[in-house]
Amino acid sequence: MVSNHRPTKVIVDLEAIQANLHAQKAQLAEHQEIFAVVKANAYGHGAVPVAYAAKEAGATGFCVATIDEGVELRQAGLTEETILVLGVIPSYEAVYAAQYDLSVATGQIEFLHEAQELLAREAQKLKVHLALDTGMGRIGVSQADELQALVTFLEHSPEQFDFEGVFTHFAQADAADTSYYQKQVAKFNELVTQINPQPRYVHSANSATAQWHRDNPSNVVRMGISLYGLNPSGHELQPTTALKPALSLVSELAFVKKVPRGTALGYGSTYVSPSEEWIGTIPIGYADGWLRRMQGFEILIAGQKCPIVGRVCMDQLMVRLPGKLAVGSPVTLIGRDGDLEITAQDVADYAQTISYEVLCNLTDRLPRVYRGN
Ligand SMILES: *Cc1c(COP(=O)(O)O)cnc(C)c1O
Repeated sequence: MVSNHRPTKVIVDLEAIQANLHAQKAQLAEHQEIFAVVKANAYGHGAVPVAYAAKEAGATGFCVATIDEGVELRQAGLTEETILVLGVIPSYEAVYAAQYDLSVATGQIEFLHEAQELLAREAQKLKVHLALDTGMGRIGVSQADELQALVTFLEHSPEQFDFEGVFTHFAQADAADTSYYQKQVAKFNELVTQINPQPRYVHSANSATAQWHRDNPSNVVRMGISLYGLNPSGHELQPTTALKPALSLVSELAFVKKVPRGTALGYGSTYVSPSEEWIGTIPIGYADGWLRRMQGFEILIAGQKCPIVGRVCMDQLMVRLPGKLAVGSPVTLIGRDGDLEITAQDVADYAQTISYEVLCNLTDRLPRVYRGN
């Protein structure tokens, strides 16, 4: 349930998303396309508006994690583009995926056997991308003979399968040390050269690969985190394209009070005011995805930094104010206020995680409001 009648919301700048995509596209070779990765509700930004903005900026396809995420895009009218489900699906969902013209990843002959039977019965054809495990250790085939068996099976079932792509995923494309990346590239090339003729899409690049390995073996870039304006490597490597964060998380000061010295605040009374202080309360908490461990982090209120004091509650948190501020004063938890900025990376650093997790944590309770486009 979206809580629209509360000042806490996510603001998404679709022009920033388009600028990030244009900047990446400008670095690519003529034959390279961009698939916008909009899994997990477009990393919290809202899948359908992001997909439309990315399409307008030149994305020719989308990547999602689940069949349902793909169906959401089809039902929103995105009927032309390739939509690749990156995770494996159960064979009994093959017909449903085919009905929505989704492309699916597989690396298992059993999947093809079972799906073929079901697809034949319903006279459906499924687009397939073969997943190659070149060192990620997640999904896909790693042996040449297994790959050959998959390719042969696909070739012998042209009524049920459209062999559309072959791909891999890198475990360390965001690292300064490129040795593991190079090992995976060599393995990918070795496996892919055995496929003749090759499918339309041969792809390996995520955001980090496109940023730091321009010679990657891909005719499609699966652009995720950099589409949203964040550095895939955190702090390890400098981005090679301009990245503009697209998401802001804002609220308003809901309650203001002056407390005497020695006042305990919040569950567990972990904060006790060391002197007379102005304290504010903001309607956001861990049920919105603002983690409990953000206690102590400084957020922006009316252009000033204010520390979160006491434990973050499920739906509210308290801050120490620089003085008396009006109820309704603007609060920025992620984004810009005047000269100051808090990025999802800053939040991630404080919470000892990565920006991806901070963004994906933002829950459906937060309304998404769109600017630009
Ligand atoms: C999530 C994902 C991506 C996108 O990764 P980013 O680092 O966000 O660019 C690309 N490919 C696969 C297989 C993924 O699972």
